[in-house]
Amino acid sequence: MSIKEEMQKRRTFAIISHPDAGKTTLTETLLVFGNLIRSAGTVKGKKSGKFATSDWMEIEKQRGISVTSSVMNFPYKDLQINILDTPGHEDFSEDTYRTLTAVDSVVMIIDATKGIEAQTKKLFKVCRMRGIPIFTFINKLDREGREPFDLLEEIEEVLDIETYPMNWPVGMGKRFLGIFDRQGKQFVQYQGNEDETFIPYEDLEKPEFDELKSSDEYQTAEEEVALLDEAGDQFSIESVLKGEQTPVFFGSALAPFGVKTFFDTFVSMAPPPAPRKTTDGVVQPDNPDFSGFIFKIQANMNPQHRDRVAFLRVCSGKFERGLSVKLARTGKTINLSQSQQFVASSRDNIEEAYAGDIIGIYDPNIYRIGDTLLEAKDQFEYDELPQFPPEIYKRVTAKNVMKSKQFKKGIEQLVQEGAIQLFNKNKGESYIIGAVGELQFDVFKYRMKNEYNSEVILETLGERVPRWLPDDKINKSLFDERNMLVQDREGNYVVLFKNDFALNWFKDQHPEVELIDLYEVN
Ligand code: GDP
Repeated sequence: MSIKEEMQKRRTFAIISHPDAGKTTLTETLLVFGNLIRSAGTVKGKKSGKFATSDWMEIEKQRGISVTSSVMNFPYKDLQINILDTPGHEDFSEDTYRTLTAVDSVVMIIDATKGIEAQTKKLFKVCRMRGIPIFTFINKLDREGREPFDLLEEIEEVLDIETYPMNWPVGMGKRFLGIFDRQGKQFVQYQGNEDETFIPYEDLEKPEFDELKSSDEYQTAEEEVALLDEAGDQFSIESVLKGEQTPVFFGSALAPFGVKTFFDTFVSMAPPPAPRKTTDGVVQPDNPDFSGFIFKIQANMNPQHRDRVAFLRVCSGKFERGLSVKLARTGKTINLSQSQQFVASSRDNIEEAYAGDIIGIYDPNIYRIGDTLLEAKDQFEYDELPQFPPEIYKRVTAKNVMKSKQFKKGIEQLVQEGAIQLFNKNKGESYIIGAVGELQFDVFKYRMKNEYNSEVILETLGERVPRWLPDDKINKSLFDERNMLVQDREGNYVVLFKNDFALNWFKDQHPEVELIDLYEVN
């Protein structure tokens, strides 16, 4: 098969959701479709016991789990599916965001009983700014949830995206009777389990369905669908592919009900790998030359050896075992045959990979997040990965002032690796580090001690709202401990506002100061 045919078979996506919305359950159901597991509920024992963030072995264990499952791939119909895990819960971090730079589409799960929750919103924002197509699965219809129209309205308002319901629920909770499949023009009957009876619309005329049709739930839903057909938005695949309209599916990941229809529709609409921007123009995914970029580095998977694995998204050409590639940043040639490659459903070496695939390569401490690997004769770099605004900030100092050399080296390397973001206050006097999730600080502290022999003291500044300042003509007297002026590692000025209130108050007082929200520019 040609490179073009191979890459067109790829569907590489991530599932985003707030904890407990049903990501694991849905993922497992998809793995059942892919014959990777026999029944849902067998992959992650993650619900067993709370995970102690201070205990590194626990972190390892947790990360071990998320590593083996961080890329799941399987053939489905004539397609090749790659699902990238977005670490959530306690290990929510910048990796979660960066994973979204490596996918071609996203499935967003919303819990029908709760609507949009904080984490979904954050991840959604990142998808939106990158123009990634988003497919929505509204889950837990077997429970008493919110009205469907209410949920759609919330998505449109809070997330600022058009919705198009692909199906429409009839009742919910104990009175959940099924869904109208608007595309397939059929009613799918729910019977309290995974059995799905498909009834074409014309067959609904038969007397055996009279009872169903006379129920309040059915009649309400029928009116609602008629309303949608008449007054709702038109479905537009162009808008979907631009990330401006999201097809919405209702169902239950647990039953599972509506999941197969959802997945079949999703894979038929979700795009294959797209061309990607580089410093030297756009690279087509079927370009014969191999190229890709590193979006995640997983350190210390094996504490005995300082193993690191770099996750590379293939963007063009064909990867074959033993391929010699060039690291664009340094120009050095690297033979990937010396590396352990794996696609994480199994740790086997992989023989070949195409655009859309993710390969894990052994990292002898030479890669950085965002690095481009490509063929020796080519010269370009993929767009830098965006910097995601940290939410939690801490002041870091060395416990032992005599060891400031190790301290600085450690910080510098961990910052380069993307494990943590560094902010300077008053140049050198003290460091402020920022991260998206609390776990990143535990990992940072542990690695400083064990890899750089530097014990650190972390003093919390709490959650802050960061805003970047566009130039350096700054009136420093406007800022204090509450609204702290710092510099990021590129030297840009950043104000760490105490909270939204402090930010808004400052805006009122100083309308002349331009403040940039990274979320809005990335
Ligand atoms: P995650 O945190 O997003 O991975 O969520 P899980 O998949 O672990 O699901 C969280 C809880 O919701 C679990 O107890 C699931 O059994 C339950 N759950 C998931 N999907 C459904 C559903 O469709 N209906 C009901 N009633 N419960 C569900």
